[in-house]
Amino acid sequence: MAEPTVFERIVAREIPAEIVLETDTIIAFVDIAPKAPMHVLVVPKTARYRDVVELAAGDPALLAEMVQAAQAIARERAAGDFRLVFNTGELAGQTVFHAHAHVLAGSLGEDSLA
Ligand code: AMP
Repeated sequence: MAEPTVFERIVAREIPAEIVLETDTIIAFVDIAPKAPMHVLVVPKTARYRDVVELAAGDPALLAEMVQAAQAIARERAAGDFRLVFNTGELAGQTVFHAHAHVLAGSLGEDSLA
């Protein structure tokens, strides 16, 4: 069996996180190294999908649930508008190979992507 990902360990409460939303299928928590005033990760509890491409092919309803969760979190913790980022592959900056969405909000200009 593969080593559990850092996100599976958060789901299992083996490592602490500031959890902001949890359902049967997803968990959302504050990123440990925030890149925006609000920076939350929305993560499927299953580690079956390495990235958003696998997730979209394997369980599009779960991906849609993540988008809805992102909107709810941005409404609750920021002004409602948000940026959704899925780093996909090492050369795009992906470091955790367990599909996840970065939800960024607050003071985001249209000339920046991070
Ligand atoms: P990515 O680079 O797209 O794979 O995103 C992984 C993200 O996970 C990074 O933004 C990290 O800061 C974040 N991260 C890694 N470990 C933790 C942790 N223990 N708690 C919260 N966020 C984490």
